[in-house]
Amino acid sequence: MLANIIIKPGTIELRDIKTPKPSHGEILVKIKASLTCGTDLKAFRRGHPMIPMPGVFGHEFSGVVAEVGKGVKGFKEGDEIMAVHTAPCLKCIYCKKRLYNLCDKIMDTKVLGAFAEYILLTEYIVKQNVLYKPKNLSFEEAAFLEPLSCVVHSMKSVDIKRGDNVLVIGAGPIGLLHLLLVKEKEAVVAISNKHKKKLKIAKELGADFVLRTDIECSPSPKPLPSREGNNKKKVPSLLVGEGKGEGFFNIKKITNSIGFDYVFECTGRPEVWQASVNYVRRGGTVILFGGCKSGTKVTYDTGKLHYDEITLKGVFHFTPSDVKKAYKLLCKGRIGISRLISGSYPLNQLQKAFDKLARGVGIKYAIIP
Ligand SMILES: [Zn+2]
Ligand SMILES: [Zn+2]
Repeated sequence: MLANIIIKPGTIELRDIKTPKPSHGEILVKIKASLTCGTDLKAFRRGHPMIPMPGVFGHEFSGVVAEVGKGVKGFKEGDEIMAVHTAPCLKCIYCKKRLYNLCDKIMDTKVLGAFAEYILLTEYIVKQNVLYKPKNLSFEEAAFLEPLSCVVHSMKSVDIKRGDNVLVIGAGPIGLLHLLLVKEKEAVVAISNKHKKKLKIAKELGADFVLRTDIECSPSPKPLPSREGNNKKKVPSLLVGEGKGEGFFNIKKITNSIGFDYVFECTGRPEVWQASVNYVRRGGTVILFGGCKSGTKVTYDTGKLHYDEITLKGVFHFTPSDVKKAYKLLCKGRIGISRLISGSYPLNQLQKAFDKLARGVGIKYAIIP
């Protein structure tokens, strides 16, 4: 079968490799569509600890069951399916505590290689995280199951209500998926990014405010004053309100002077992790979604966290129940997810898709074998 191999950051090769055979409990899936993801882009740009090189990669996909191993129940050749690339072991101490996304084995047993003709799904995955694709979903839309599960998990940690003010920092695929789910809650959403084109998409997807930044993804408006004493340091305000010409983005105007109820950090940049607390109101929550390079450290003003009772919440991956919820959302088919696909490429042009993403062009590309 043909499979894309990432040789080293920046270099992808399409190679002919052996098509795997399903063992007990496994299924072989003929891929119909896969999607590029921020994690893949990180690997392409600078390498990634979870993506060994040289090796196959890509983990967002949908397809048709090509062959089933012995003992597989519920799936047969020809079934159209959508799936995610991991599943918890159900035995480790974290699984016993029902913290399935934190399972000891979840990353060791993940399956990569969706930018290929076939992918082999392990017994863990087949038992927990493979679902039938309904006819009303295209294979491209169905491939959103994995990223949407991550965002469902992120949203689960907060209780956003109608009319709440939410800031999403970063309008890449994950930021835009957050926007879609936050809008489902009828909250007021501001989203920031450097690229005008991404903000245009955000607007189409229902963003109430789009905020242009002059560095990649990061808003740096004046920090809200901390209760402990007003922050007298002048911080340059880099946000420009859309449609208002050149000017400063005024958090106070959007949020009635108090700051956002929730801030979602979706850039994975340490300077943005650090700045995020400046946009949240007292008692508010910052969700730290974007993963930084391993070993990265950031600092926070303890006074701000203490007196303002700000919650910082890291989120990672998803549980099988998040996958089911994401599946339901996708099957309803009204969240407008296909707007996030900026184009499609055949297997042998994967490198082109990543070259574009690396230049900030496009949100996600569909790869069609
Ligand atoms: Zn992904
Ligand atoms: Zn486990």
